[in-house]
This record gives sequence, C-alpha cells and structure tokens, in this order.
Amino acid sequence: MRVALVGNQNSGKTTLFNLLTGTHQKVGNWAGVTIEKKEGVIRTTDFEIIDLPGLYSLNPYTTEEEISYDQLMDEKIDLILNVIDATQLERSLYLTTQMLELDIPLVIALNMKDLADIKGINIDYQLIEEKLNTTIIPISALKKTGVFDLIQIIKKKAYKDNHYAHIYDHDFEDILTEICTTLDVRHKRVIATKILEDDDRYASLETDDIKALKNKLKQHYNRSLDQIVTDERYRYIESLRDDAIKSYKHHRSWTDRIDDVLLNKYLALPIFAIIMFGIYYLAAGPFGSLTVDWMSGIIEQFSSWLGPQLTAWHASAWSTSLVVDGIVAGVGAVLNFVPQLLILFALIALLETTGYMSRIAFFLDRVFQKIGLSGKSLIPFIIGSGCSVPAIMSARTINDETEKKMTIMLTPFIPCSAKLPIITLFAGYFFSDRTGLVSASLYFFAIAVIMLSAYIMKRFIFKGKLSSFIMELPDYKIPNMRYVIRDVYLKVKAFITQAGSIILIASIVIWFLLSFSITMQYGVSPNQSILSYIGRGFSWLFYPFLGELSWGASVSAIQGLVAKEQVISSMAIIANFSEEVTTGTLIFNSQIFQFFTPASAYAFMVFNLFSAPCFGAIGAMRKELGLTSSMWKAVFFQTGIAWVLATLVYQISTLVGRFI
Ligand code: GDP
Ligand code: MG
Repeated sequence: MRVALVGNQNSGKTTLFNLLTGTHQKVGNWAGVTIEKKEGVIRTTDFEIIDLPGLYSLNPYTTEEEISYDQLMDEKIDLILNVIDATQLERSLYLTTQMLELDIPLVIALNMKDLADIKGINIDYQLIEEKLNTTIIPISALKKTGVFDLIQIIKKKAYKDNHYAHIYDHDFEDILTEICTTLDVRHKRVIATKILEDDDRYASLETDDIKALKNKLKQHYNRSLDQIVTDERYRYIESLRDDAIKSYKHHRSWTDRIDDVLLNKYLALPIFAIIMFGIYYLAAGPFGSLTVDWMSGIIEQFSSWLGPQLTAWHASAWSTSLVVDGIVAGVGAVLNFVPQLLILFALIALLETTGYMSRIAFFLDRVFQKIGLSGKSLIPFIIGSGCSVPAIMSARTINDETEKKMTIMLTPFIPCSAKLPIITLFAGYFFSDRTGLVSASLYFFAIAVIMLSAYIMKRFIFKGKLSSFIMELPDYKIPNMRYVIRDVYLKVKAFITQAGSIILIASIVIWFLLSFSITMQYGVSPNQSILSYIGRGFSWLFYPFLGELSWGASVSAIQGLVAKEQVISSMAIIANFSEEVTTGTLIFNSQIFQFFTPASAYAFMVFNLFSAPCFGAIGAMRKELGLTSSMWKAVFFQTGIAWVLATLVYQISTLVGRFI
C-alpha cells in the first residue's frame, strides 16, 4: 500500500512524515530535479509513504506542482493523506476539492490543532467530514497529539471510502458527469475538469460530443469555463467555512478586526481607492506642488547667481549658456521633483510594511481574475509607481506565462516617478484650481486602461488559463521605519543618479541642437535651430492630439524614450531659449506652455503616460519577455494605445468645449 502526503507549503507535512516514519526513511531527489524526495515506511505497518512537495493547487505551474500532479495521476497511490493547517482552513481546502476528484481514498489530517486552539478557532470537523464525504482526524504534528489515532485509522483502513462530493452547481455537475461517462481513462473527474479548463494536455480526448457539452455550459453560465470552475470551488469552500468555523468570533486577532473593515466585501475597494488617492493627492496635489516651488526657487537662485558669476570669470557666452541654459536648466528641472517623490515613496513604503498591500492584493485577486490578471499583478503595479524597471522584474514571481506577459506589458502604464513631474507640471499650470483632482484622474485613467487592455488581451490575444493566487498573508504590523527609510533612500538615489547621468547628457545634446542652426551657426533663434527642424519632421505625428504643428512638444515627447524626466527638462531648456534670456533661469515660466491649450495639455499627459516607457524599462521588458520581437510588439502596443487615447481625449474635449 502506498500513501502520498499532500498539502500546502508549511502545513506540517514533513513534520508529520518524520513522526509517522520514525527512522524508516530515505531521502533522495526527484528524477531530473533538485527537489527533495522523501520516502519511508509508516511505523508498525508495511505501508510506504511519500512526502510530496508542497502545493496550493493541482494546476501545474511550478516544478513542485508538476511533480505532485504526475505522481498522483500516474503512480499507483492507494491513499492520499491530505495535511491541512487548521488555522488556514479556507486556503487549504482549495487543494482538497481538487484531490477529492481523483477518486483515490483521502484522509484529512487537520494539523496545527494546538495553534487553532490558542487562536480560538473551533472547527466543526464532523460537518466537513459529512459534506466532503471523507475522514478527518485533528492532530498536532508538533505536539504529537492525534497521530496514534491517525496511524490506527490508516492501518485498519477505517476511513470512509469517499465517493465524490458534489461541490458544483447541479447543471454543472450533470454535464461534468456526462463528460465523464464518455471518457475511458483513469481519474475521469479530474481529466473532465481539465478538459473544461481547456488544458492542452487533454485536447486529444475532446470529442465532438464533449465540445457540444462545453458550449452548452458556456452558454448556460455565460462565463469562461475555467472561471466557472474556480468560482464554484471558492463558493463551495466559503459556504463550508461559514458553516464549519464556529467560534472564530470569540478570539479574534487584531488582524481579523482590521480586516473586517479594510477587507470588507463592500468597503475594501473604496477604501483602497481613497488611500491611493490620498497618497497621490499629498504627493502631487497642493502640498507636493509647494515642495516643487520651493525646490525650483532654490535652483533658480543658484542659476541666477551662477550666470553672472561665470561671466565674471571670463567664461565665453556659449559656455555660460551651456552650463546655465543647458545643464542647470535640464538637470534642475528634474531635481525639482525630488521632495515630491520622497513623499510618494515614503507613503507607499509605509503602506507596504504594514502588510496592507499583500492583504489587499489577496482580496483583489478575484476581481483581477475577471479581467485576466491575478492579485499577483498588483505588486508590480504598485512598484511601478516608483519605477517600471524593478516593477517589470518583480513580475518574475508570477508563475503563469500569459499572466506574466500581460503584467509586463501593462506595468509601464502606471505613472512612474518620472512621469509624475509631467503630470504635476501640466496639472498645476492648466488646472491650477484642481491640481490634485486632475493628477489623481490620470491614475484612475491608467487603472481603467490597464483593466480594459488586460481584458482585451486575455480575450483576443492570450487565451490561456490563470493561476489561482494563494500566498502567505502577513498579519498587520507596525510599520518598520528602517525598511521605509532604506526603500526611499534607494529609490531617490536611483532618481538622482538618472538625473546626473542620462538627463545630463541629454540636456547637453538638446542645448547643442537648440543653439546651432543646420549651418552650424551659434546663437540662432530657436525656430532656426537643428532641433526645430527635427521636431517639425515629426510634428505631424502629434498633430491629431496637439491640434497644432508644434516642434517643441514633439521633440519633448520623443525624448520621453530616453527618460520620461527628459520631457520636462527639454521643455525647460526650450522655454529658456524662447525667452531669449541667457542668464537667470526661469525654469517654469509660461513659455513652456505656449504650445498648449488645456485640452491638448491633458492629451499630452495621456500620451506621455501610456507611450513606450524609457530605454531602461524597454530593456527590462526585453529581458523578461525573453524575445526581442515580443519587446517590439509591446512597444508598438503601448505607443499605439497612447496615440489613440491622446487623440480621443483631445478631439472629444475640443468637441465638447465647442458646445459649452
Ligand atoms: P511542510 O512544508 O508541509 O513540510 O511543513 P513542515 O513540516 O516543514 O512544517 C512547517 C512548520 O510548521 C514547522 O516550523 C513546524 O515545526 C510547524 N508545525 C508543523 N506541525 C505543527 C503543529 O501541529 N503545530 C504547530 N504549532 N506547528 C507545527
Ligand atoms: Mg516539507
């Protein structure tokens, strides 16, 4: 007789395994992989037992899950010993509902009873036994209670011969049963479910009859079939939990009480929206703008001191202009935003260390699933508000390929710290009485576009399946200030380094292109500069949403590719020249905006928000997507969307503007 130990990670499988086998165990590796394989013999019996790698579901996404899946499907297993962490009942039962479909006898070891007792979790396990048609034995592998009973029951085969408990809706079960009857394989139910989920491995088993049944189901529920399967499992588990967990209410931890509000069914999303709005309001709204004014005041003073000083040191006119109008104006325009970003980074890091981010990601999982993403994508999206590069890299933790690709392509849509200055600057000037609102509106715009794109991609481009997202949830904690400070320090440092390197070089190049004419004459009017020629060449591309053939705006937008900060710096440099002042930097004078109306300003923000990210992020996309061709697709996709949205925004708002 062969027994397989199955359960989530950290449910106590290995602890129980050691206890059951005593010294009768051998450790090796699974064929071809380095994952540890433990086999042994249960004490006082001749039953073999294997400790399978921890898994959360039977859908193979990771090597661990694949190994466990193959073992359970192909090997001769006579009994599944499902180890469940009693303090994580709901999460653990997801796997159980899949195991029960294998038609292999299953015994549940309800582990960590000691912990559950301390936490005051009182599980009516007889009720679960009855509903799942299975045998449950409460144990504590650590405290060694209940294990003797467990061995006796296994030894005497005194467990229920569980036949499948009907967990799905009637109509669904009926069709599933019908599919099963047409199949001539072992593990009919699992394979029937996999066929419903469009699993490629079983595509060859799909007969016309089955296809017809699938279509019938799809029409009946009007949802994708894999979605129905997941939804139905969750629904069933939730009802089990509500019935079986009794005295949760008496010993509730602080985390539970906070969750009652923050993760409340109806309040969670509005609260999340308000929190994010609050953060961006503080950073980009009136308070944040104040810090920008303050910084630009300092830089302006420095610059108006430096200009005459350089002249006094007998610097030539052109070198003074290079330093003051090129370098200081360009780099300074970016540095203005350092305090503002400091606020943004600190607030987000604070939120992360409290544990709220992970918990809300978990909550949003099912909302995200509806559009083809899982809660796992939330983390890259949040990190993306700092910088897309680490955000794109953090998408690595997503197991599902389709979802990973989608997340990588959509992450750059989140306004990163370098796009924030564009937003602040334009919102502050054109919508001065509603700066915070306009800035926040762009974030919500970004979220809406991400959701819509995900939905469309999932629907038409990637027709894959989704991993269900189940992860360790940290309790709420007092924020760790050391983490916050470190995180903010690293991000601000990266921002300043960027300003000191790429922006510096780009500023010099822009200054050069603006100062010289095609005939290499120095000191021409900006309208005759090399840059203006380049800009004019491209300006027709931007005409549909700028409403004007403006070379300045075109050149700035193109430079967003080098670094988004560069959009602002090059505007600052161009504005300086237009004023024809060579000393005294008026970094944010109204000249910057000569090309814009409120409608085209908003459209311009939209374009910069969604168009291809900077070179750094494009490089990260190339690396994580694996193929240069995928990277180009992503870049064209992003820029295409940006162009269409900007044009729509501009055209619609000018149209509306004409009528009111
Ligand atoms: P596995 O990942 O499923 O193999 O889990 P392990 O056997 O490695 O156990 C994970 C952790 O849970 C270890 O720190 C164990 O000491 C602890 N643990 C296992 N069983 C119990 C139990 O019944 N009660 C308590 N309090 N802790 C347990
Ligand atoms: Mg283990």
